[in-house]
Parts: sequence; structure tokens; C-alpha cells
Amino acid sequence: MKRHKNGNKQYFTKMGTRKKVQAFVRVKPTDDFAHDMIKYGDDNKSIDIHLKKDTRRGVVNNQQTDWSFKLDGVLHDATQDLVYETVAKDAVSQALDGYNGTIMCYGQTGAGKTYTMTGATENYKHRGILPRALQQVFRMIEERPTHAITVRVSYLEIYNENLFDLLSTLPYVGPSVSPMTIVENPQGVFIKGLSVHLTSQEEDAFSLLFEGETNRIIASHTMNKNSSRSHCIFTIYVEAHSRTLSDEKYITSKINLVDLAGSERLGKTGKVEF
Ligand code: ADP
Ligand code: MG
Repeated sequence: MKRHKNGNKQYFTKMGTRKKVQAFVRVKPTDDFAHDMIKYGDDNKSIDIHLKKDTRRGVVNNQQTDWSFKLDGVLHDATQDLVYETVAKDAVSQALDGYNGTIMCYGQTGAGKTYTMTGATENYKHRGILPRALQQVFRMIEERPTHAITVRVSYLEIYNENLFDLLSTLPYVGPSVSPMTIVENPQGVFIKGLSVHLTSQEEDAFSLLFEGETNRIIASHTMNKNSSRSHCIFTIYVEAHSRTLSDEKYITSKINLVDLAGSERLGKTGKVEF
């Protein structure tokens, strides 16, 4: 999780001693957890991995068998609700104060990245970070009638170095003539040509999310894309200003919710696709 404020001193007082980047490990529930190989620290903030030596390698064997990782938390058998509370809630709530935030999932294919970000669509309880973040943003807006707040969303997919707009209202014209480019300016990095949609209520945002998910699936079939090789970035843009204090500045911020491509090494899995 990463946060940075658009050049405002408030940052240091508000954020206190909190770290700017936090790392959590979520472990997918399994019936046969490898207790002899994986141990969590007592404070749930570290993981020790122990591998048995491969005896086939002979008597002199310098193979590394132990690793230790320090983290901000381990989420083992955690509910979607607990995962949201732990990794996303603060980052999302600070967006209304002008803090940018990014939450991204990294891991092998099948590890549960999409489950964590998008969640299971058929069960409301199992919805992921994306719909919960949208819900929280609109709930916070209701609680702040003194401010005029607008919310916009975009949904970008990156596959084989090409950019795809999952919410594009234009028909697909092929990557070579894609009007999108990555542009860097003093305000940061943005994608020129990516459609950004105004959402005045939660339902609008949900239907855009749903449209994006559907387009992602359709495109993966029609273009024979391997969806585990694509990165998806759903961005919520928040713009707020006081209705009462006319001289107050506009506060703008972005929340990036990223479902990264599978982290497995292509050479090892032989899953290279073009
Ligand atoms: P990834 O996006 O990392 O490739 P998925 O999110 O598609 O992986 O997860 C693979 C499968 O495991 C899916 O069927 C998903 O529903 C299931 N799954 C992942 N994480 C969990 C979890 N924490 N609890 C229950 N099912 C899970
Ligand atoms: Mg996935």
C-alpha cells in the first residue's frame, strides 16, 4: 500500500509515523497447509520458510533451505471483510483528504489476487476490495454534505505492453492504432486517451465495474489473451471542495486498485503466449 500527498505539509502530521508502504501476505485457505515448511511469527508479522534439503544433490550441498520475511501482517484464513479493514480502509478514507493511494496484489496465478481485488460476484459476502472501496467512497460523501465531491472511475488493462481501455465506449480498433499513451507531467503519470467516467452514485460505479469485468472476459476470448498475463488497474478519482468556504482549494486524489499479472516465471512454467 502506498500513499503520497500532492505536496502538502499536512501529510506528516496526519500520517504520523505510519509507513508509506505496507506489505501484507494473504494465504489462501487449504486443507493441507504445509505446517512443517511454513511458520508464522507470534506477532503475525513474519513468515519463516523451511525447505528440506534435496538429498539427491550429494554430500556437499549449499542449497539455501531457510528464509525469513518481515511484513506488516499475515492474513491467514482471513475473510474478505477483514482483508478490506486491514489493507484498504485507511487508504480509501484518506483519499477524501487528498491522499493518493495504491493497493496492489502480487502473486502466482491461482493465488487469489482477483478474488482479493474483485471478489466473487455471485456472493455479496465474498465481494472484494474494488466494490467495497466504491461503497466506502460514496458512504463518506454522504457523511460530508459540506463538501461538493465528484467521483470518476477508469479501468485499464495492460497486456503484452499494450494498453486496453476496459470502459471504452469506442469499438476496439487494434493495439497498433490505440490512441492511448503513457504521459508524465509534474502532477504525475497518467494515460492519455483512457476514458474516465463520472459516477454520481454507487450504482453507476458498480455498473461500470461490471462492464469492465465483462469486457475483460470478452476480450480475453476474442483476442485469445491469457488473462493471468495481464495487469488490471481500476482507478477512483476523487475531487472535493468545500461548499461553504469559497476560497478553499480543490482537493484531488486517486486510488489505484491493481490486480497484477501472475508472478510466475514464464521460463519455468512454459506458459508463454503471444
Ligand atoms: P489469481 O487471480 O491470483 O490467479 P484467483 O483470485 O482467480 O487467483 O483465485 C483462484 C481460485 O481460488 C478462484 O476460484 C478463487 O475463487 C479461489 N480463491 C482464492 N482466494 C480465495 C480465498 N481466500 N478463499 C476462498 N477462495 C479463494
Ligand atoms: Mg486473476
